[in-house]
Amino acid sequence: MEKFSHFISYGRQSVDEEDIQTVINTLRSPFLTQGPRIVELEQAVANYVGAKYAVAFCNGTAALHAACYAAGIGEGDEVITSPITFAASANCVRYVGGTVVFADIDSVTYNIDPVQISAKITEKTKAIIPVDFTGQPANIDEIMAIAKEHNLVVIEDGAHSFGAEYKGRKVGAQADMTMFSFHPVKPITTAEGGIIVTDNEEYFKKLLKFRSHGIEQTPYALEQGDWYYEMTDLGYNYRMTDLQAALGVSQMSKLDAFIQRRREISEMYTEALKDVEGIHIPQQLEDTESGWHLYMIQIENANRKQIFEEMRAANIGVHVHYIPVYWHPYYQQLGYKKGLCPVAEDWYEKALTLPIHPSLTDKEIEYIIGNLLARYNTNSEYNVR
Ligand SMILES: *Cc1c(COP(=O)(O)O)cnc(C)c1O
Repeated sequence: MEKFSHFISYGRQSVDEEDIQTVINTLRSPFLTQGPRIVELEQAVANYVGAKYAVAFCNGTAALHAACYAAGIGEGDEVITSPITFAASANCVRYVGGTVVFADIDSVTYNIDPVQISAKITEKTKAIIPVDFTGQPANIDEIMAIAKEHNLVVIEDGAHSFGAEYKGRKVGAQADMTMFSFHPVKPITTAEGGIIVTDNEEYFKKLLKFRSHGIEQTPYALEQGDWYYEMTDLGYNYRMTDLQAALGVSQMSKLDAFIQRRREISEMYTEALKDVEGIHIPQQLEDTESGWHLYMIQIENANRKQIFEEMRAANIGVHVHYIPVYWHPYYQQLGYKKGLCPVAEDWYEKALTLPIHPSLTDKEIEYIIGNLLARYNTNSEYNVR
């Protein structure tokens, strides 16, 4: 198989002429920020997932920060999350002064294990942040039941799972608040961007306030006159621009097609790799439809680093998602020890991300599969060795 001259990245945006024109039109409009496109995107996302409210932010991390604020998390509160995630799922707890508690993952789904969540609950536990890792929804019914029993808030990190389904409903309809990210590698993009969906009016109001400096229209302010407003808490400028929202609105109309293509690609990988000794393919739970943000295999009894480097040398953008969050020096300095979540750590040592995004061609996928299988003794049609 001839080496591809271009680098195949693990994930990237799919932006077309229609998207570009939509942004250009907004550039010519009266509003570049805080205009009508923001509300349009918020309504489109809320409708899509079946939630009452949506609040857009400048990125997904800011959205998670705002959700932690709205949930009332503060100094001394403990929040349980998965160690196999992007650091932002845990960092948002630190922003508001809370303590992160890592609960180990389930070895089949790679998502946080509800049994491990229960084992980590104390009097100080305030919230749970499950992550829909790779696009597969976390076991949200069980997590919501645990939360109800202990009076906890559930903030679902759906950065990977916009468009995915849990028991026939879109992710975003289940948790108290759900975050979606619109970073270029995510299901749809606004360049940078994120959103929280919720059915709770109180959270909705707090999210709006936090997004804009802690400012709100109080009864007192309304009495004073049109120019008057009050800053009632310390907020941030976490607003999304209308340029970004315009891109998001245009991308929304393509979300289902994007997910469809991701599912096709995942099926191609699964079909080619399912019987290969030494490769463990990802498993999907029966009642979930993954959005396939990532396609992650585990390499058994082989040198992952060597396979990674050989694939990279062939211009294939394999990756590893993620280093257990508490292994990072920042968390080590806070006292978290290696060995804390053994299932996650064992999984991490074997994990490899294969490229998956809607713009990948069949030819590229065949090239990736062929290169991977060349490292195993198989009789596959893809085998190039
Ligand atoms: C991308 C991502 C985030 C953060 O989103 P940004 O928009 O990049 O700030 C949070 N959690 C997970 C799991 C992510 O993958």
